Amino acid sequence: MREMYKNMGICDEVYDYCDNIIKSLHDRFEEIDKNAEYNQMKVIKAMQDNKVAEMHLSGTTGYGYNDDGRDTLEKIYSDIFKTEDALVRPQIICGTHALNVALSSNLRPGDELLSPVGKPYDTMDEIIGIRPSKGSLAEYGITYAQVDLLPDGGFDYEGIKNAINERTKLVTIQRSKGYASRPTLSVERIGELISFIKDIKPDVICMVDNCYGEFVERIEPSEVGADMIVGSLIKNPGGGLAPCGGYIAGKKECVEQAAYRLSSPGLGKEVGATLGVNQSFYQGLFLSPVVVAGALKGAIFAANVYEKAGFVVRPDGSEPRYDIIQAVELGSADGLLAFCKGIQAAAPVDSFVTPEPWPMPGYDSDVIMAAGAFVQGSSIELSADGPLKEPYSVFFQGGLTWYHAKLGIMMSVQKMFEKDLIKL
Ligand SMILES: *Cc1c(COP(=O)(O)O)cnc(C)c1O
Repeated sequence: MREMYKNMGICDEVYDYCDNIIKSLHDRFEEIDKNAEYNQMKVIKAMQDNKVAEMHLSGTTGYGYNDDGRDTLEKIYSDIFKTEDALVRPQIICGTHALNVALSSNLRPGDELLSPVGKPYDTMDEIIGIRPSKGSLAEYGITYAQVDLLPDGGFDYEGIKNAINERTKLVTIQRSKGYASRPTLSVERIGELISFIKDIKPDVICMVDNCYGEFVERIEPSEVGADMIVGSLIKNPGGGLAPCGGYIAGKKECVEQAAYRLSSPGLGKEVGATLGVNQSFYQGLFLSPVVVAGALKGAIFAANVYEKAGFVVRPDGSEPRYDIIQAVELGSADGLLAFCKGIQAAAPVDSFVTPEPWPMPGYDSDVIMAAGAFVQGSSIELSADGPLKEPYSVFFQGGLTWYHAKLGIMMSVQKMFEKDLIKL
């Protein structure tokens, strides 16, 4: 094994350092494997109950009428997430698009949207109109209110109670911390928050941005009261095989609204050709629990590797996990660059490419990104990025197999070690 890693460019010091850390993670990895097993059964059961057959794996063209593969997959998502209905479509471009469809279809002029967990993911700014943008909810007369988390990460129940008014129609709760520094919410905590909100206003729609959270735990937010959960298929539930797509699962009424918005009033869920993607949607969902487990192991391994070397890591090496994202404060631009070069060098695709920092729209500093993915921008595949500013944090996630995630992290350590940026 050591020779194999040496062939990949990993020296003895890095190999031994990482090997020792892996030995200490045995129990945690076992727990992750148990969750994957549990979720794998959930997925297989749903596929069996819905009598998935070979014909479901092919697709339709044109209008996409009577696409049994598509309709059955949506039933499977509903079963897994324990919802009344689901919209799972290649026409949903990404997570941002899914969130936009869910919000803009279920809100009407005069309504108010509330985020009780602080500022949502960056790409939501322009959907909501936090930053003025063409076509935002704000342009349609939908207002926005926000209640930040308390300094200790707790919910500001008093503030939330005060913020809920007769116009509050929809509450958006982001499960993952995304690229913020707050902790990720467990499904249990999301349930507590939803109960509190529904006690005050029972008819409010509670939506959860479920990106990066699917199959990390044994239950999903839709099992603790969420009316709608929303996510991307080039993250967890696509299992790395879905080439595009997103989902909205939840109450029949909410999903129906979303379908009429995604296609057209009058058309709804009845149309939408799947072309050739059904097979990868099914197979990706089937693999997803195990893929997510590999990504989680990678995140925990990285947290421990960098924590023991003296870096600040979020979550820390021993905290429970509620999403697949790991942040490491590398403390210097050189560290951030070396880390990303390591991730890139370990990729199956574009391993020979050197990532460079670059100005990006919406960011006030250059950003460096590393990814060598089979699907463009897929972040269930091993990927890392970070803005070139204090504290030079890298955010990384994914890995279609645990061994690839492991190599990526070892390679990041190797690049840092070669530049004398890490002490082992
Ligand atoms: C990734 C992500 C999004 C947006 O998804 P895209 O597919 O990148 O558009 C929204 N919210 C959260 C929490 C995310 O992680």
